[in-house]
Amino acid sequence: MIQFSSKFPSAETTIFSVMSALAQKHEAINLSQGFPNYPVDPRLIELVHKYMLAGKNQYAPMAGVPELNQRLAKKIDSLYGASYDPATEITITAGATEAIFSSIMAFVRPGDEVIVIEPAYDCYLPAIELAGAKGVPYALKAPDWAIDWEELGQLITEKTRMFIINSPHNPIGRCFREEDMQALTDLLAPTNIILLSDEVYEHIVFDGQKHLSALSYPALRDRTLATYSFGKTLHSTGWKMGYVVGAARLMREFRMVHQFNVFSANTAVQYAIAEYLEDPSTYLGLSAFFQAKRDLFLDLMKDTPFQFEPSGGSYFQLGDYSQISELNDVDFARWLTIEKGVAVIPLSPFYSQEQPDNKVVRFCFAKTEETLAAAARRLEGL
Ligand code: PMP
Ligand code: GLN
Repeated sequence: MIQFSSKFPSAETTIFSVMSALAQKHEAINLSQGFPNYPVDPRLIELVHKYMLAGKNQYAPMAGVPELNQRLAKKIDSLYGASYDPATEITITAGATEAIFSSIMAFVRPGDEVIVIEPAYDCYLPAIELAGAKGVPYALKAPDWAIDWEELGQLITEKTRMFIINSPHNPIGRCFREEDMQALTDLLAPTNIILLSDEVYEHIVFDGQKHLSALSYPALRDRTLATYSFGKTLHSTGWKMGYVVGAARLMREFRMVHQFNVFSANTAVQYAIAEYLEDPSTYLGLSAFFQAKRDLFLDLMKDTPFQFEPSGGSYFQLGDYSQISELNDVDFARWLTIEKGVAVIPLSPFYSQEQPDNKVVRFCFAKTEETLAAAARRLEGL
């Protein structure tokens, strides 16, 4: 037998795979992993089909199909008042995961530090570790999950190469406000830190809030790469399509990694998305669509002993289970899946250090009304 040692011994199977597999095994209703269980718009499927039949089946240009890059440049300009060159400042990726991974690999070197806000979406820290760098966590705490920017600023050292933010936030469901963006801008101004702004839930914000994109702030332009996911916007997580936006100087470096990582993303799907997004209502209606789902979920769950603070964005809702159980969140999520038939996601896997026992779990409400109602019925008798 050949001998080798694991290059990545700290890695574990993601909590999303673990909980979805457990849900399947126990025939639980799966409100854990974040994906919709209703169909993609048939018109979009027809467009993909149309472009496949038209022969768009070979490699796309490395940076993306120009029609799509141009469509996105227009969208960014109209929503965020920012002008990005479709040819040199936007790259289509194999999902936001690839955009994040390639961004980290392009800029973070062994010995560097990267500040992450925890709970952190699960692909940030492993990529930082694979780059040979160290993640420096800033932990959000229940019940308000707010950032004390002065405290966060103390984490900056001369080794800090990158800062990763995520608004709307997965799993907390909170959005940055103007004060956060100002504090962020001031904090980074005297530094050479690259800002990686994960904005995959840009179109899912509730209660009249506005998504504050890092792309809207001229003072951040020089240092920002922002990542997006068509999986979220088009209800098509399985297509693994996304994009990254940033100043040409940064994008050049990004592309040097992207081209040797995946080279390019699915061609026919890019053409189809470019045509589909001609109609902005395809994404501008998403906040209302998901807010209705959030409200329905909260209403259906009101007779259960979970306590909820309505989510402000993303398609996730945190629920406090302290009136139900003394178990820690991982054990509680397993118990709920196996014994009660509803799978959820615990928060502790999104922290790199031991955290106070928050007693909250994450529900995904990107599900049909029937699924949400069936889950609530199973939880009524708790
Ligand atoms: N960032 C966050 C915060 C996410 O929730 C996700 C996945 N849902 C991603 C990145 C990855 O997106 P994709 O599925 O397009 O790779
Ligand atoms: N982003 C999804 C979530 O937060 C999961 C994506 C995945 O399974 N990698 O649930």
